[in-house]
Amino acid sequence: MGTSVSVDGQITAFPLLRGQKALVTGANSGIGKATAIGLGRMGADVVVNYVADRDAAEKVVQEIESLGVRAYAHEADVSSEDQVVGMVSRMVEELGTIDILVANAGLQRDAPLTDMTVDQWHKVLDVNLTGQFLCAREAAKEFLRRGVVPEVSSSAGKIICMSSVHQIIPWAGHVNYAASKGGVLMLMQTLAQELAPHRIRVNAVAPGAIRTPINRSAWDTPEAEASLLSLIPYRRVGEPEDIARAVAVLASDLLDYVVGSTLYVDGGMTLFPGFATGG
Ligand code: NAD
Repeated sequence: MGTSVSVDGQITAFPLLRGQKALVTGANSGIGKATAIGLGRMGADVVVNYVADRDAAEKVVQEIESLGVRAYAHEADVSSEDQVVGMVSRMVEELGTIDILVANAGLQRDAPLTDMTVDQWHKVLDVNLTGQFLCAREAAKEFLRRGVVPEVSSSAGKIICMSSVHQIIPWAGHVNYAASKGGVLMLMQTLAQELAPHRIRVNAVAPGAIRTPINRSAWDTPEAEASLLSLIPYRRVGEPEDIARAVAVLASDLLDYVVGSTLYVDGGMTLFPGFATGG
């Protein structure tokens, strides 16, 4: 149990997310794993969604339970409507409700445009964009049904879309991924506008280069890492915990007035580093 800072700046002894129920998709690896554990550390009970590798998901569950909160693993493909409906309804049955959705699951299927198959295109759009739509829709139904419970949170629910700096930075050779994340930006902003009157906050976290399996080839040799660092003004590769902390604070009532925003957690990658020496 960590300490936390209340809105008036007081250091308090209880965690930011105590009593809240969080669903993190793609939570058995990388950013999702760190985020699920981070939310547990802040006092939330956590559903650890995975689509493959149950053992990894169960290890995340054990780590979260060791923090003194509840957790369980749930297998579901976020691009399947039936499976997402089943995942959220089980969560409501087992944990009572959902307060926080972190729509994190995502993947890449890279190819130059002229080699990209329609399967590669659809797979990335289905998981990265349709998956976020389905999870947001099912979570929002429960937020709307339950409304605000002031003892738990000032809002009726929080949706955090895991986006990417590629929601605004074009990325040659990755047109499916960049299009999916550009879509996530407009999905997030439109849902934020639509749901805010119901006291539901929708925001995004946009990571830069974070050390996870999705981009291993970009950091796992000294040459690759040096080349990557030239794109990062802060001159370090991000760690999954950098994103987990951002998500936890964004989900908390400390940022209750933040609606429809993207928090870039990227060491300055979106600051046009190529122009640092003139241009
Ligand atoms: P990762 O590969 O470690 O994790 C992705 C997770 O999503 C895995 O657990 C995977 O099994 C899961 N997943 C894939 N398809 C799924 C499906 N159909 N249903 C449910 N889960 C599914 O990579 P990561 O870096 O931790 O990526 C997490 C998110 O962060 C992704 O949305 C990614 O686009 C985003 N992101 C990552 C970086 C980075 O540098 N690592 C940068 C920007 C954005």
